[in-house]
Amino acid sequence: MVDTTVYAGHMRAVIYARVSQDRDGKGRSPDEQINALKRVADSEGWEHGPIIRDDGIGASRYSGKARPGYAQLTDTLRADDVLMVWEQSRLSRQVGEIADLLKLCRERGVKLYDGTSVIDPDNPEHEYQTTLSAAASALEAGRTSKRVIRNARARAESGKPHGDLGFGYRRVFDTDGSKRYALDEPQAALIRKAVSDILTAGKSITRIVKEWNNSGVARPTRKNHADEWQHIVVKQTLLRPALAGIRVYRGEPTDTPGDWPAIITHDEHLQLKAILTDPERYVAHGPAPTRLLTGIATCGKVLEGGNVCGRSMRWANQGVTEKLTAPRHPQYRCPLNHVSRRADKVDERTREIMRYLVDKWRARELLATPEPDETVALARIELDRLNTDLLQAAKEEGAGQRTRAEYLAFRDGIMPRIERQKTIIESSAVDPILYALPWDATTTIADADIDQQRAFIRAALRVEILPTGRGARVFDPRSIRYTDISTRGPATVLLLRN
Ligand SMILES: [Zn+2]
Repeated sequence: MVDTTVYAGHMRAVIYARVSQDRDGKGRSPDEQINALKRVADSEGWEHGPIIRDDGIGASRYSGKARPGYAQLTDTLRADDVLMVWEQSRLSRQVGEIADLLKLCRERGVKLYDGTSVIDPDNPEHEYQTTLSAAASALEAGRTSKRVIRNARARAESGKPHGDLGFGYRRVFDTDGSKRYALDEPQAALIRKAVSDILTAGKSITRIVKEWNNSGVARPTRKNHADEWQHIVVKQTLLRPALAGIRVYRGEPTDTPGDWPAIITHDEHLQLKAILTDPERYVAHGPAPTRLLTGIATCGKVLEGGNVCGRSMRWANQGVTEKLTAPRHPQYRCPLNHVSRRADKVDERTREIMRYLVDKWRARELLATPEPDETVALARIELDRLNTDLLQAAKEEGAGQRTRAEYLAFRDGIMPRIERQKTIIESSAVDPILYALPWDATTTIADADIDQQRAFIRAALRVEILPTGRGARVFDPRSIRYTDISTRGPATVLLLRN
């Protein structure tokens, strides 16, 4: 994976923007791209350099037009530049072109920023990853997103589940190789009993959490997390429309019911929803944490000896100020007083990051078509093997055992096979977090309650409050470090694109 090093030092940002010809119209205008990239450059401390744009020209080989701005890049780039692009597809959808550009960057000592991370073309692994992404873009250019959406809708209307049905179900394979969902009886029984206990005996979720944890039935596993059931997860598990055989598409039940067996009735689902989303009941399970990040965000102060403090942030009402007119803003504060930061600002920034993550996942989820487990397992093995071959070829080229042309020919031959495996693997990657949370295409993070938001952060993000210089008065978003720890992403330091 592309590593997460944040490059400091004196660097000049060269921005390259072009109009996207995305058929779905989601592409940002060059002005928007430029503004967003400038903000990233500012937050990284890069000096503003030339801005080069190609208006109205697609980079795909299907468009076939000349791009003067792209040619101009070769005259502009020099050592210690960072070439900034909105995302790789803006730069080039052609594998050959990106390879040439990386070569140019390598020769000039230039780094590449692709919208999420900084790529060092001198690093063979980075080159390899970037070439892979370019291949993916090339593939994508041959499709239309409309077709993808049409497929997703067709799938929904045929009653096929979206992704894995999760707790309560298991996949079975018929003799003809087709896949369907059957009840996982022990899990389905737990769900049935819990729903009945809530509806008829008024049992609390808290009690059910205890029972489920005592029952020894493990919750669906998730990286970085204990397998204990938690309040929010149990609640959302029970609230899934899928349990009543309801297929949801873009937040609405479809006319066609799901083609899998229901565990509870439609009526039970509606009653449960009414009870569990009743705000009065919500208060009853104990004092709800009212602050987004207390106990979650940690202190990022590096101590003597090199360890990071790492203590959980506490809530602190700003102490009494001498001037009564001075605003007193509540703070997140390290219990050892290493760092403190205005809570409202930190919360606002954190919600931006959450929105960004969810958008990214949704985009991927929309593209996903579930595949049988065996197929995925085989694809992983095959991908590993192909990747190893490719990396080996790159090393041999580096060591002079292969010519550049030989390497490129080899790479072009292997890339479609790598892409095929990646597509299979990604299609199965629906993050469990998406099932644990009620966010579908029509709701936003703003609609989720504070418990849900906190659960999301615990599952998906590491949030560290870093020390700032003395006397720093203005809130600096760089002083919080977000790391994606979800099963979805690599551990990537997130930069907002907004
Ligand atoms: Zn500390």
